[in-house]
Amino acid sequence: QPITTDMATLTKEVKKFARDKKLEIETLKIKEEYRREFLGNVSHELKTPLFTVQGYILTLLDGAMEDKTIRKKYLQRAEKGVERLIYIVKDLDMITKLEVGDINIEPSRFNVVEVVQNVFDLLEMRAAKKNITLSFDTFYKQPIFVLADQDKIQQVITNLVMNSIKYGKTGGTTEIGIENLVDNKVIIRVTDNGEGIEKQNISRLFERFYRVDKSGARSEGGSGLGLAIVKHIIESHNEKIYVESEFGVGSEFSFTLEKAK
Ligand code: ADP
Repeated sequence: QPITTDMATLTKEVKKFARDKKLEIETLKIKEEYRREFLGNVSHELKTPLFTVQGYILTLLDGAMEDKTIRKKYLQRAEKGVERLIYIVKDLDMITKLEVGDINIEPSRFNVVEVVQNVFDLLEMRAAKKNITLSFDTFYKQPIFVLADQDKIQQVITNLVMNSIKYGKTGGTTEIGIENLVDNKVIIRVTDNGEGIEKQNISRLFERFYRVDKSGARSEGGSGLGLAIVKHIIESHNEKIYVESEFGVGSEFSFTLEKAK
């Protein structure tokens, strides 16, 4: 490179260099902050179920093991805690891969009606425990073909239906509707008549680890990552996700997909 002799140019270059470096440092700081916050959230999420499992094991070792019925009950509860830990770790793995861009969207042509049916079959028992009816509101008894990553879309629908059960009222209903839109898209809606979400919380729902109810008193613990995963998957498809909710009345989550020929 030629040596700059012009003082004005030199000053300009030095200033630009300093500005670039400052920007670089700022970016690194933000990344570091993000990483620290993420780790903090992760350990927080893991702590509750870990302590629960430890609690049951300690009680068993303390003598509860002698009683056959108590033994079984505590072992079942410990197992539930481990199950929850597995869910959290799976979600963490998924969100990390999605954020790093380590996951490929592999579109194929598939029947979305069948996928909804799969999800219903898998979650029927869970819904029944809360006396929630899963209903497939569609006049399309015929297949609807879309172009998307089938496994990921099944995960999206699973997360949304799971939430509608978790935050649904006992005796309530979750309804799925699929509608054809004009511009080569379909829209899939998951509607519940559950607890609903207050307006001021709606914009933050898709953030990682965000929960409306922050108390540990929640009977249904997730990872707080379900909707962040949903949003990532839908956006990686270049599609859109919407939420409408009324506190005390219910919620509707909907997203678009590309129709297949
Ligand atoms: P998680 O369910 O594990 O807490 P999510 O990311 O799936 O995490 O959801 C984030 C939050 O959004 C939930 O904690 C809940 O407060 C709220 N939420 C999600 N779906 C619904 C729903 N169908 N009805 C009411 N609130 C909901």
